[in-house]
Amino acid sequence: MTDLFASDVSSSSLSLETEFEEKVYTDTSFENALEAARSGDRLTVDEAVELLTTGTDTEGVDAERKEEVLRTADDRRRKVVGDEVTFVANINNNVTTACDVGCLFCNFKDAPPEFKKEGGNGFTKTVEESRRVVEEARERGVYEVCSVSGLHPSLVLDEEHREAVEGTSRYTPPDEFVKNPGTYAAQIRAMSSVEDGGESLHVHAVTPEEAAHARRGTDRSYRDVYERLADAGLDTVPGTAAEILVDEVREAICPNKIDTDGWLDAMRGAAEAGLKTTATVMYGHVENERHRALHLERVRDLQDETDAITEFVPLSFVHENTPLGDRGVTGASRAEDELMIAVSRLFLDNIENVQSSWVKYGDELGARMLECGANDFMGTLLSEEITKRAGGDHGEFRSFEWYAETLRSMGRVPVERSTDYTEQRVVDGPPYGPTLGPHADGTPLLD
Ligand code: SF4
Repeated sequence: MTDLFASDVSSSSLSLETEFEEKVYTDTSFENALEAARSGDRLTVDEAVELLTTGTDTEGVDAERKEEVLRTADDRRRKVVGDEVTFVANINNNVTTACDVGCLFCNFKDAPPEFKKEGGNGFTKTVEESRRVVEEARERGVYEVCSVSGLHPSLVLDEEHREAVEGTSRYTPPDEFVKNPGTYAAQIRAMSSVEDGGESLHVHAVTPEEAAHARRGTDRSYRDVYERLADAGLDTVPGTAAEILVDEVREAICPNKIDTDGWLDAMRGAAEAGLKTTATVMYGHVENERHRALHLERVRDLQDETDAITEFVPLSFVHENTPLGDRGVTGASRAEDELMIAVSRLFLDNIENVQSSWVKYGDELGARMLECGANDFMGTLLSEEITKRAGGDHGEFRSFEWYAETLRSMGRVPVERSTDYTEQRVVDGPPYGPTLGPHADGTPLLD
């Protein structure tokens, strides 16, 4: 692992300097980079570095240059998607926090031994419990269930996969735990309600890291894994677990995760299985601006190849209650957040939608991001455990009314969307409620 306390790092974590090979220097100037962005040219990694740093010729962020970058990104957003801001009626149903991968930025995990005793930390949902959570949300009008979980040692793709890994060190039988999470396929079936003949919710689940867990110990391809999950009711794939797609950074913050190529392979497998995906970046920890730019390049190349990515989601590192936070990493500055959104918009010329996450940024900064290049404002999130456990304090739910009033007050048009953006409706209530799901009849999600 890279020594986290060595030398030379990004503006986000000035006190933590690491010995990375990738350095923040370029062969171009800020002025050239800005001109390329204004002209709509496809940006190079060097140009992205110049924009993210507001020029490598100066120390820190230059306020005037930053405003020029943000304005350019906002203009580009207007040209690409107009003034509409989208959001979705969704719920998080995370199956388990059991995980011993040990990523240093994560507090959404509890060591598997905790799950072998009654009253231990964390949670695991049985298939039946997942079904109940999702059915209740569906009755309220929610139409997307988003599910991201820890890598529970007994979770397998399906019964065939269980047979393949039984008796190996890569598997622990469920009867050793208080709760049995079943299989990925059974959980997906329950969440989409395919099994009981009910109307399906859109299931957005199984990240590349989880897909790797769902094929561990076999030579099954990612395409095969995702095809089986699609048969069970999986609709789209969250491109999370990307963190920073540069291996020297991954080795520093998540050495036990799949590497950059593994993540890209899994995403290709999802696309080959016919599933649309999102893509993310988790920034503001030990990486520098060149790492961020290289990440953007890998995502853009993947999209050129697959055309499967519907939105890009920059995720600002929430440091509280994480091992990195304990070591003094404090996350990105507001200026870095604004520039990350803006340069994502300018660099990713082949991805239409850039999301602002109110869970990561909060309401005020989240709304500000919609003036820096973002055009999607995430979803209602009837429950949200991940960020809360990492110390995020931006709450758990945003109503359609809140979306409508916030966006109208900014002069923007509130639009409810389906997960894959194929269905959209301008929200011009009251009453303010979702309309795109099986039980979504315009009634507000909560009283
Ligand atoms: S980020 Fe995911 S894989 Fe890593 S420790 Fe947390 S739950 Fe486990």
